[in-house]
Formats: sequence, C-alpha cells, structure tokens
Amino acid sequence: MPWMKESMQKIESELIAKYGEGQRARIERGVRQVASFWRAEDGDASIFEDFVRTNFAGDQATLDTLFERFEHNLEMIDGHMQEIGREFRQQSDLDLGPIMPFDDVFAGYDPSAHVTDDFFQNKLAFTVLLNFPLTTLQERLNEGEKWSRRQWAEVRLAQRFSKRIPADVNLSIAQASAESGRYIAEYNIWMHHLVDEKGNRLFAPGLRLLSHWNLRDEIKADYSDAQNGLAKQRTIQQVMERIVTQTIPAIVVNNPNVDWNPFTNDVKRAAVTDNTNALTGGMTNLSPITNAPEPNTRYAKLLLDFQASRKADPYSPTAPTLIARRFDEDREIPEERVKQMFEQLLSSPLVPQVAKLIESRLQRPLEPFDIWYNGFRPRGAYTEAQLDAIVQKKYPTAEAYKKDIPNLLVQLGFTKERAEYLANNIIVDPARGSGHAMGASMREAKAHLRTRVEKGGMNYKGFNIAVHEMGHNVEQTFSLNQIDYYTLQGVPNTAFTEALAFVFQGHDLELLGLAKRDAKTRALKTLDDFWGAYEIAGVALVDMAVWHWMYDHPAATPAELKDATIQISKDIWNKYYAPVFKKRDVVLLGIYSHMIDSFLYLPDYPIGHMIAFQIEEQMDKAGNLGAEFERMAKEGSVIPDLWMKKATGAPVGPEALLTATGRALKEITP
Ligand SMILES: [Zn+2]
Repeated sequence: MPWMKESMQKIESELIAKYGEGQRARIERGVRQVASFWRAEDGDASIFEDFVRTNFAGDQATLDTLFERFEHNLEMIDGHMQEIGREFRQQSDLDLGPIMPFDDVFAGYDPSAHVTDDFFQNKLAFTVLLNFPLTTLQERLNEGEKWSRRQWAEVRLAQRFSKRIPADVNLSIAQASAESGRYIAEYNIWMHHLVDEKGNRLFAPGLRLLSHWNLRDEIKADYSDAQNGLAKQRTIQQVMERIVTQTIPAIVVNNPNVDWNPFTNDVKRAAVTDNTNALTGGMTNLSPITNAPEPNTRYAKLLLDFQASRKADPYSPTAPTLIARRFDEDREIPEERVKQMFEQLLSSPLVPQVAKLIESRLQRPLEPFDIWYNGFRPRGAYTEAQLDAIVQKKYPTAEAYKKDIPNLLVQLGFTKERAEYLANNIIVDPARGSGHAMGASMREAKAHLRTRVEKGGMNYKGFNIAVHEMGHNVEQTFSLNQIDYYTLQGVPNTAFTEALAFVFQGHDLELLGLAKRDAKTRALKTLDDFWGAYEIAGVALVDMAVWHWMYDHPAATPAELKDATIQISKDIWNKYYAPVFKKRDVVLLGIYSHMIDSFLYLPDYPIGHMIAFQIEEQMDKAGNLGAEFERMAKEGSVIPDLWMKKATGAPVGPEALLTATGRALKEITP
C-alpha cells in the first residue's frame, strides 16, 4: 500500500511523543508487525493510524490488562470450541450405536476453523501484533533461556497470529492434501496375484495390502514364517522398489484381475479369482493387459502438495517456506540440528554391532528389507490369553476401570492426594475404536479417556492402550490445570506427550500385579527401538532432502522429481546403510506414503524415539515417577530444547537412546 510508509512514520512519532523514548522500540516493532499483515480490505491510512493510536498499550498497567484479557478470552474460545468439537464427534468416537450420515458431517465440522481469520477481520489479532513480539526460532533459542515465564507467554500469544494465510490458499492446501491422501489410501497390492516364474503364489487369497504400511508390516510378520518368509520378504521388497521407481505396471495397482511377476514385470490376466466383489480397476474382459508403468503419479501428487504449500510462503514472514514452518514452528528445533542428530544416530558405531547381532539371530547376511527386522520383540512370561483373562476379571466394564484410576495412579507413584485430584479430572468413555485420549482446552473442563471394553470385559490390548491414554490424560491435566499462563499450556509437541504416555504404558504389567519387565525384556525393547530409529532416520533424511530439492526446482516435472527422489534415496542408503547391508543403490528409503501426503512429517518419528529415551532415562534416574511426571508436565509449551533441559539437564538429542542401546547390547549376547 503506497500510503503505508508515511503512515507508519507519522503514527510512530506521535506515539513516541505521547509515551516517551522508553517505548520507542516497542512502538516501532508493533507498528512494523501490524503493517506487515495489513491488507487493503483492513482499511485506509486513517483507519490504520486510528487503530494503532487506540490500541497501543503504552504503560505497564494497560499492557497487563490487555495480556490478562487475551489469556482469559482465548482460553474461553479454545476451551468451548474444543467442547463443541468433542460433543459433535461423540457419536463417531464412542460406542453408542449406529453412525448416521449426518453424524459424519457433525464429526467433520470444525467450529474453530475460522477463528484466526475472524480475529484478523475484527482486528483483535492486530492488537496482539501491535503489543507483543513476534520472534524467530533463532531468537527463541538464543534468548529464551533468559525470558521469564510471562515473557514466554507473551511470545506464545503473539505466535498465534504469526501467519495470515488467505482462505483460498488454505483451501488449495487442503485440496492438495485430500487428493494426495486419496491416492495413498487407494494404493493396494493384491498379494495372491504376485507370481514367480513358475506361476507360484506365495500369499494367501484375498490378501490386499496398502502401501507402504501393510507391505512393511507383512515383511515384519514374515520373520515368523520359516518356510516362505524369506521369499515373501524378497518379493515385497521388489514391489516396493517398483513403486518408488514407478516401474510398477499401472494396471496392477488395486486390481485383483491381473497376475504380476514383480521381478520380470510380466503382467497377465488373473488365472485365479480370490474376490467376489472387489474393485475391478475399471477393467472389463476386453481391456488390454499391458505392463505400461504408472505414469509418475506418485510424484505428481507430491508436487501438488509442494505447489499448494508454496502459496502460503508470502503470508508467513517468520517462516517463509514449508520446510521452515515444519522445523521452526511445528517442531521448533532447527533443521540443521535435526539433521545432525539423525546423522549422529545413523553413523553410530552401535549400528554395525546391532546389525551383526541381527545377522547372528537370522543366521544369514542382512538383506535390504531387514531395515524392518522385528525379531527383538520380547516374548513375555504370560500368554495373551492369560493376560486377557486377568484383565477381563479385573475390568468387566469401563466403569470398573474408572473406579480403579486412583489406585492405579498410586501404584505408579503418585501421592494419594494427587491421584484423587487427577482421577477427578478424567472422564472415562467407552470408545468405538481402540481408544484415545482427548484433553480439555480450558481449566473448567475435563480430560476424556476413551477406552475399548469388549462384551465380556476389557482385554489385555485394551488395558495396555488405556494405560497409555491415561498417561496422556495425566499430562493433559497437569499441563493445563497446573500451568501458570494459559498460552503456555500443553507440551512442546506431540513427541513429548507420546513419550510421557509411553512411561505409563511401560508399567502396565506391574499395574496388573504381575512381574515387572526384567532387564532382558527391556534390553530387547531398546534394541527394537534403536533399529526402528535407525531405519526411520534415513527415511526422514530422504523426506527432508526431497523437499529441499523441490524448493530448489520449483518448475520440476513429476519425472524429474522421480529421478531426484531415486537419487536421494540411493545416496542416503549408500552413505548410512550400504556399509552394513553390503549392497549399494537401494531405493527402499523412498517408499513411505507419508512422504507423498504428509508434508514433511517423517522427521517427527526419529525425534520421538530420542525424546522418549531421554524422558525414560530421567524417570529411572529420579525414581519418583509421580513427582517427576508432574514437574515435567508443568513446564508447558516452551521450545523443546528448553523443556528438555529443565526436565533432564540436556537439550533434545540421541545420546540417551545411544547409551541405552550400548547397555542393551551388553545384556543381549548372540
Ligand atoms: Zn499416544
């Protein structure tokens, strides 16, 4: 706007004259922040100047009032919106009988979707931007340790309005996300139709696996198939590689009417039928059968996500790329540090040691699909059926579990008083699905524990999940109800709440009065986590490099993006995996579906593993789980490194995971 510069100068001098030189820095910053988000539709020069004149809080008392009012009112709007959302999803989330078509609409409706837009329109967002500082991640990292809790709360308040993305841009991001999500959700392989050269079928009729989740989980399950496991795993690897390289015949995707040899890439009309009412892939008896490759659709969908995300860049001044928004805003750990942590993990001398242990357990050299080795899973002292019987007897209904919560919390190490307080803040509901935790967003509301109870009573799996979700509820209660400032409620990101929930879940057997997990069981679990983190850290590096490549080549075609992704996958494999797998140029790291539809989400997984180990080590060291849990959860949503330093003495990093792995290796000898 041509008038903006002059208006800014005019109103700045006016306010400095009124409030004094001492307020100059705040005035200049506030006016600049407002100007950077102001649009023509917000008003002309006189409206702009009048807004600034009226809403600048030039003395501490006014600023305090403003801050407190926002804290209170934001809690009210977040809290009540959350309540509406929870009530609207009730029929879908809970075990309450049939879901009607309109229930789905209620469940999909988000009453808070337009709040930020509304706050810019009525200028409450500008009032915040005029009075409180927008910060970069670098500033939060460099100066955050010196800030008071109130300063942190002000920073978080301003951050709510650090972006003003136009509705049409948000819509095109949502559309791209829905389209790539649909592509991924329908990408099934009909396993009985995978054939070798002699026409043999390794997989059972009717088995339909979604890429990549089900394919990967089938590889994991095949370790227990002594007869055909290895052949199955090799076949799935071949399928995955053809998906990444897009040499997969288009006709075999989600189509049980053709047989496919993934090694030779031959396709024939299906010689057997293993489904009566499956999709036909649009095929009729007259359709020609060809092995024409999928036309790079995988990469076209990813490009769609990229092009849509990029449209938001100009409206996000403190994080002007999707990459920056993911690392600087969502994770709040700089990308460079995340990369270093992953590289430290990937190049750890423990990797070849664990690899050797796996080879000795498998009694064969590693093959690339062994990045999904799952043979460290400990076998417990009790069978699943025994555990089911114990749990069923103890918890015939959700009500019985609810009644037992105070007792469970005391067993975990909370005082009787704390246990009662927490139990009073948790409502137990019967879940339709496997269970989840839903925290409140205002202090007068309660957290909800959704737990699955079968007809005959709760089974062990349901109990194990309920204990995990109860961990979430306890974190949610402390980090909301015991917090000093509302805008600091919560934890830094989901990895933290997951880690805290896993602490609870790890004690589930003791809560049933059964033997504690022994050192060997813990060691096996640690090795399983380490190998999982090693695998997913490479996948995450591919995801990161691919997004950088797209930003460097904004006009790329799907074919070019495919070539780049293949090269990136090979490079990362060759650097961190080839030395232990003794095979080069493998593209498996590019198979994850999240890469196509989740907008740079994958780095969250390895970070989550690291955080979980840091928190667990600290719990072990401190001994007093109850007090320690409360102390940690009350830190609130400051940046992860600061939270972790307060909680454990060190910033987020892989050291705890590596230390535990070193210990585990000593415990488990080949
Ligand atoms: Zn969880």
